[in-house]
Amino acid sequence: MFAQLLRFWRKITKTNTSTMLNLILFGPPGSGKGTQAKKLEKKFNLVHISTGDLFRHEIGNKTPLGMKAKEFMDKGHLVPDEITIGMLQNKVEKHPDAAGFIFDGFPRTVPQAESLDAFLADKDTTIAGLLMLDVDDDEVVARILNRGKDSGRSDDNDESIIRNRIKVFNAQTAPIFEHYDKFGKSQKINGVGSIDEITERLSDAINNLM
Ligand code: AMP
Repeated sequence: MFAQLLRFWRKITKTNTSTMLNLILFGPPGSGKGTQAKKLEKKFNLVHISTGDLFRHEIGNKTPLGMKAKEFMDKGHLVPDEITIGMLQNKVEKHPDAAGFIFDGFPRTVPQAESLDAFLADKDTTIAGLLMLDVDDDEVVARILNRGKDSGRSDDNDESIIRNRIKVFNAQTAPIFEHYDKFGKSQKINGVGSIDEITERLSDAINNLM
């Protein structure tokens, strides 16, 4: 209730003076963030940044950063903040003219969220909203195992690694919802349904932030 009021207040007073639209697409692994981010980036003319994709690109190129990240990813652990935050910032800097960003898979820890807030504040902008795709654990495990049949991702094939990724999400990542909820910026979106239905729900929420 308080968060809803705060959201309404922010809307009518337009406390966000930045013209950029920066969104965090949030949710457990397998909740559909990547699929939805690809659709939303086109629809709203935003730049989509997935830290998981950036790490997989580095691994594909066998860079030192990629090799380091792989050690953690293969176990379903988070890559340390000092590696992840620098990589994310470099990627943002490559798009100085972006109308805004969709962050997918970042932030995943409260320190990552705090560093993102400070980094955006330096650019006179902020996070407009965090949209959490709400999907229960058994559904995400089933989706990831299904995706693993052709994703080629080693972390998608083993149920115990998948369960570990969900445990890590609940312990280290879920508190980020509260972090942005304090500012009335967090919303839950039903993440079960057809891809188009979910895009519609997210689009309605984004239109409300503009
Ligand atoms: P994803 O493609 O978002 O499911 O990420 C795959 C894996 O990459 C995760 O299980 C983590 O090991 C790693 N990873 C991706 N993003 C982050 C992040 N923001 N912080 C730490 N590790 C990450």
